[in-house]
Amino acid sequence: MNAPIKQPADARKVIILGAGASRADGAPLQAGLIPEFANIIHQRGISGTLRPADQDLCDFFQKFWGANIKSVDWDDETYPTFEEALGLLELANARGEFFKGFGSLPHRTPLAHKIHAHLIGLIATVLDHTLQGINRHHDTLAHSLGQLGWFGKTSFISLNYDLLIDNALRRELEVEPDYAIVFHSVTEALGGGTDTWEPPLLKLHGSLNWLYCPTCNAMDLFPGAKIVARLAHDAPNLVCQTCKEPRLPIVIPPTFFKVMSNFYLQQIWKRAEDILRQADHLIFCGYSFPDADLHFKYLLKRTEINRVSNQDSPSQLPLSEFPSEEEYQPEHLEVFIVNEHAGKTSEARQAEGDRYRRFFRDKANIHWTKLTFEDLAADPTTYADPANWI
Ligand SMILES: [Zn+2]
Repeated sequence: MNAPIKQPADARKVIILGAGASRADGAPLQAGLIPEFANIIHQRGISGTLRPADQDLCDFFQKFWGANIKSVDWDDETYPTFEEALGLLELANARGEFFKGFGSLPHRTPLAHKIHAHLIGLIATVLDHTLQGINRHHDTLAHSLGQLGWFGKTSFISLNYDLLIDNALRRELEVEPDYAIVFHSVTEALGGGTDTWEPPLLKLHGSLNWLYCPTCNAMDLFPGAKIVARLAHDAPNLVCQTCKEPRLPIVIPPTFFKVMSNFYLQQIWKRAEDILRQADHLIFCGYSFPDADLHFKYLLKRTEINRVSNQDSPSQLPLSEFPSEEEYQPEHLEVFIVNEHAGKTSEARQAEGDRYRRFFRDKANIHWTKLTFEDLAADPTTYADPANWI
């Protein structure tokens, strides 16, 4: 196999982080969030009275999914994925429809809205419990990129809500990432002036450290690592300073996109498109390329087809000067996949590989590596070494 067309040090790189990257640092996958929450409830002791939010969630899982968290056999119960749970509430909300007992009277906060807030608190609880500030491989990645001097040509896209990469970049560079959002207020701001370079980090499905006020249409940033613990323990007190109405983190399951009309998310997606269009190397980490992520695939396809070229775009030329297909050479895009992990079956590898290969146009430029996220974090140059490609 040939070396990459562009050397990794020179290439504009986008590191795309999927759920598998967070799992390398101990975060549960979507399907594991609610079982882990049940586990935490039982560790705390089920005999006493549950906190009202936890009681509401237990009722919700029982009523909607027949899953009894409080049962002595709670680990034999089958739980929905987080996406299913949140997505159905979002869909009912978008359609102006209610589930029986979960709708609203005008003077009451709809139970569905409360459950929505509780579900976000649930992720925060689980992440706070499972990660405990441990961030090893993301920290290693940020440190290795710094050692190589690659930050100036590296951007990050994260499909995760957790703060693993955010915290790692902040620790390494001592600035907040550039989220492509103008925040209304930055609480407990950490140094860094306006002329400080910040690493671009586009979180396409939201982030637990952004609190959105739907009343003011304003987004606040909570820098630092403490917000997850606060959400887990103190969610009702996160009211907007301006209007005193509740704020919520922006957390959007990939399958549900009405919330894409959110002004802030549109800015993030636009910036992601610009960055992807100019990228030479896309490095996917722990991302299985699921069929459900059609909006992300749309973005990738747009940026693959509408590449920025060193030449004039054919559409800007008079027809007589139109280059032939051989003459018109958009900049090459190369795709690298870092998806290995212990226990991965050959069937899963094959299915993921097929999804990547059928999606991108230039099959020769798709490089499936035998690297884990840990390998890449320890030495980011490994992705571009043909010896590591399968
Ligand atoms: Zn407000």
